[in-house]
Order: sequence, then C-alpha cells, then structure tokens
Amino acid sequence: MTATEDRARLVIDLAARTEFSFVSMSEPDRLAVDVRAGTFSVPQPSADSDSGSLVTSYVIEQVAGDRVRTTLSLAGPAQVQQAYVLDAFNDQPARLVVDIIPADAEIFAANVERDRLVSDAAAAKIAESTPAGGSELPIGSRPLVVIDPGHGGIDSGAEAPNGVREKDIVLAFSLRLQELLVESGRFDVALTRESDVYLRLEERVAMARTNKADLFIAIHADSFQQPEIRGASVYTRDENATDVLDKVLADTENKSDVIAGFSMPQMAPEVVDILLDLMRREMRVQSFLAAQAIVHQLEPSVALRRFPVRQADFFVLQAPDIPSVLVELGFLSNASDIANLTRSEWRDRTAEAIARGISSYFDSLEKPE
Ligand code: ZN
Repeated sequence: MTATEDRARLVIDLAARTEFSFVSMSEPDRLAVDVRAGTFSVPQPSADSDSGSLVTSYVIEQVAGDRVRTTLSLAGPAQVQQAYVLDAFNDQPARLVVDIIPADAEIFAANVERDRLVSDAAAAKIAESTPAGGSELPIGSRPLVVIDPGHGGIDSGAEAPNGVREKDIVLAFSLRLQELLVESGRFDVALTRESDVYLRLEERVAMARTNKADLFIAIHADSFQQPEIRGASVYTRDENATDVLDKVLADTENKSDVIAGFSMPQMAPEVVDILLDLMRREMRVQSFLAAQAIVHQLEPSVALRRFPVRQADFFVLQAPDIPSVLVELGFLSNASDIANLTRSEWRDRTAEAIARGISSYFDSLEKPE
C-alpha cells in the first residue's frame, strides 16, 4: 500500500488470477476490495503512507469461505481509478493493482448507495452460490497498454557527457505517459518496471504476452556514433528478420503454445507455421499503424528524424501476438536532444503527443475503413 494526499495504490499478491470487486461504504468513509480467495496472509506493515494521505489505514479479513476483504479507511470520498490483474511472471506472483483517487462527495455517495442495493440483493438470495457482492468493474473491457521503460538497474543504457542516464530519462517519461493514458479513462496501463531495476528482454516481452496486452510500447533514448543525428523516431520490427524471430521462438517456447486458442491438439507443424506467419504478418501491420499514428501526433510538436517510422530488429518487439513499437525519444549523443530530454516541459508535450497517437491508433481499430 502506498498513499499520498492525491492517490493511493494497493497491490495484492495473488496465488492465481482471480475475481475481485469493490464496495464503497460511508460513516466512516471506506472502500473495500474483495478478492475471491480461500486464505490470505498479512503483508509486512508498510511505512509508505504519509499522514494526511488518502488512505489512513487498512484491515484485511476473511469475510466468507471464498472471500478476502481489504477495507481501506479513507480520509475523504474516494473512488477506484483503475484496477487490473497482472499474471505471474518469473518469480513475481500474480497481483491485483488498484489505484484510488479522491472523488466528489456526490459520486462517492452514489457509489455507496449502489453498493448497498447490490449487497441487499445479494443477501436476499444468500442461499444461492452468489459471487462476491459489490460493484463489478468492467474487467478486460479496456485495452491494456504495456509501457516498457528501457534498461534499468545495472544496465544504465546510453549516457550523456553530462552524466544523464537513459534508464532514468525513460522511466520518468514512461511514468508520465502512464499517467496521461490512465487519465484518459480509456486504458489499463502497466509498466514493465516502475523503479530502477534490471529486467531481461525476455521478461519484458513475457509480461506483455502473459497479460495479453493490446499494445506494447518500449521507450528508449539511445546514443549514436554520429552526434549530429537527433530527433524522435518510432520503430517496428524488421520485416526481413524472420530467421531471428524463428530462432528465438523455437528456443524460448513451444510453437503451438504461441497460437493457443487457434491450434488443434493434433495440428501438423506446417499448419502451425502458417498460422504463426499469418499472425505475425497481422501484428506487423498493426504495429506499423500504431507507429504511424504516434508519429503523426509527434510531428507538429517534436523534432523528428528523417523517415521517423523506421524498422529494425529489436528483440523486445518480437511478440507475434501483440502490436509492438519502440519509441526513440531522441539521442543522448546529441546536445539539443539532451537538453530536450531533461526538460519537464518537453517531456510533458512529447508524452501528450504519444498518448494522443495511441488513442488515435485504438480509434482506428474501432472504426475500420
Ligand atoms: Zn535504449
């Protein structure tokens, strides 16, 4: 649990992906997060919440055989801004992430009233095996965008002569982009890393794939041999690099697993290859459309490289089932870019443009020509 005056984030480790719901209660103001689970363990007490923060304390209890409730005491009216489940990957368990923000008193009162009606209705037919009461969030109805801030931990990425490091620039930028996308109310947004930690490239891709992301966007600010090269660009994966992809796929996973949902149990390898190829081709088209939409929004406000939609064989863009793009914000080998990359005004303007680009890409999916 982390909380400030303006927002709170609750992260619950899960044994597996599970159902959850929310209940707003008044007198005093509280927000309960119900998770379908048979047992729970109390986390380490966290000292992250400052006094005067949105959530003042919390209690965890088993309220039914299959339901664990975390009740948050609120400093004032609040509401859930977004909530999503991340599947387990590597040694990190599955987790439920809930972001809470202050709410208007009327909105909070309306939520309390609605949840009271729902729980009364649930109590009336208690004999039936009803799911947890409370208001269900439309889980999975919003596209999931996974932002991948490049590098981290022991891997600093590029470094400017003045000591500015790529890993710090791209993390700050990614957090800002996440904020903007979440504020739009259209997306669930997860980051592959939210702090200065090292992640292998496979882990970044795996996180997007296990959570079935709708868009994967890697953020970088690398350096070049030629210091005169500058400006932003957006990469998709090289069309001609299929041999590498094939090798990576073969090495890292069972091919038929990749097309789970399509594949028949006894499918011939040639058929699996054909389906994989179709899927890859489709994702390349989608990735290219996303890159174009982002560049189109960047164009009026940010310095771009010549031919800003580019192709290269970036490993993190290899997921065959997720549209994936890599944004080079600029180059830490160019003085003008360094100046831009370290200015918050530039960061905000550029993040806003990319957020608009992502929105317009999803618009184009909803309204096919
Ligand atoms: Zn990089």
